[in-house]
Amino acid sequence: MLNDTIVALSTPRGKGGVAMLRVSGADAVRICETVFEPCQGKKLSDFSARYAIYGRIYAMDPDGTRVEIDDGVATVFRAPASFTGEDTVEICCHGGILLTETILSAILAAGARAAEAGEFTRRAFLNGKMGLSSAEALGNLLEAGSREQILLAHSGMRGKTERRSNEIYARLRHILASVYVCIDYPDEDLAELSREEILEGLVSCEKEIRALAETYRTGHAVAEGIQTVICGRPNVGKSSLYNQLVGREAAIVTEIEGTTRDVLTESTHLGRVTLRLSDTAGLHETSDRVEQIGIDRAQSALEDAELVLAVFDASVPPTSEDVSLCERLKDMSCAKIAILNKSDLSDGGDASFYTAHFTHTVSISAKEGQGMDALEALVERLFIDGSLDIRSDAVLTNARQHAAALKALRLLEAATASLSEGFPVDVCCSDAEGAMEALAELDGRAVSEDLVSEIFSHFCVGK
Ligand code: GDP
Repeated sequence: MLNDTIVALSTPRGKGGVAMLRVSGADAVRICETVFEPCQGKKLSDFSARYAIYGRIYAMDPDGTRVEIDDGVATVFRAPASFTGEDTVEICCHGGILLTETILSAILAAGARAAEAGEFTRRAFLNGKMGLSSAEALGNLLEAGSREQILLAHSGMRGKTERRSNEIYARLRHILASVYVCIDYPDEDLAELSREEILEGLVSCEKEIRALAETYRTGHAVAEGIQTVICGRPNVGKSSLYNQLVGREAAIVTEIEGTTRDVLTESTHLGRVTLRLSDTAGLHETSDRVEQIGIDRAQSALEDAELVLAVFDASVPPTSEDVSLCERLKDMSCAKIAILNKSDLSDGGDASFYTAHFTHTVSISAKEGQGMDALEALVERLFIDGSLDIRSDAVLTNARQHAAALKALRLLEAATASLSEGFPVDVCCSDAEGAMEALAELDGRAVSEDLVSEIFSHFCVGK
């Protein structure tokens, strides 16, 4: 499958000034020569790589006649100096829907196969052009919806995470080499590192992996988003807050209780943090069956939350429903912020009641849009590590990378613990080797075929 030549439209399907078709594989140039003729009378293969070649584009009529249908620009890339690492031709034509489909069909008829989702990037990975975390970062770059997500994805694509894990991997390999010398020649003084230095080296690798694993808190908040639930009794301003956060009138706001019956969810950005935001039905006693279903859904959304925005009407004293929400949230370990809403109305509430129940409180007026800056600053403080520069530091951005880093960390902790307890150096070998394997999983050198397929299937066709 790796040997055949694939083709896809790499620009979105639709009418536009220009569209780009990408052909990659050993036969890319030969196949493209059947649809593209350079104007200077030469063939594509006569040109040097990476030149923009102007020419005519041909397709076949149903009766088999070759017909000129467009003109455009082709660029040839020669293996391994291409995105995929294979011979690649990129043909830019005019961006008509039927036109690009016709050219695509002509390339397929000439012997290429339609690329699967993510197949170009998958080939780049399999041909060693990029590591798995760089490929994942590229996927994130295509999906990026905030400036912060762009910066993070771009830096990941440059291979920051792989370089970091490779550095730690190389140090572990160096340490293990000394361990094996100690084991093989116990009576001779051949090892480059002493027992103390081996322990020191492992402890410092452990520290670095821990620091790398901790970057996921920020990477998760920016790249994946924090599961955030807005809750509170009816009419406190949950939907108004939801609308403020998503920047449009997405949820219905009325003074009628029970307006929000289902859980509304969408992704939005608050400063540098991405929120996977859910507005929920007001929590209270009701005899309305439909509303009760909404309340049950609100309860289960709360169970999965990483951040709860508990909304209260701060212009009136807390009601029994407010009190029971505070009680309910008390035992939840996720981040919780009490939103003291309706700050534009006269202050008839009891702010001290909320400060007694919550570590974090923010006063806002969801109606007037006041106080949102303070909420943004607080959420950033809770989820973004201010000492991290996402443009230059290695940052883990998904659960797969985090799990691999944690696995490496646990194994190294075990290795250093046994050495510190005075066990002979060979005791740490299998744990240290396991940690190296986990690091290799992080950048994709040691992952299963299934996992690779799963990761690339989330890409679009043509990437
Ligand atoms: P929900 O039931 O908790 O979702 O509350 P809504 O967002 O639907 O708001 C209920 C009522 O409170 C509506 O009439 C809103 O206009 C009003 N409201 C919401 N936030 C504020 C606020 O900050 N100040 C004032 N004065 N009214 C608000």
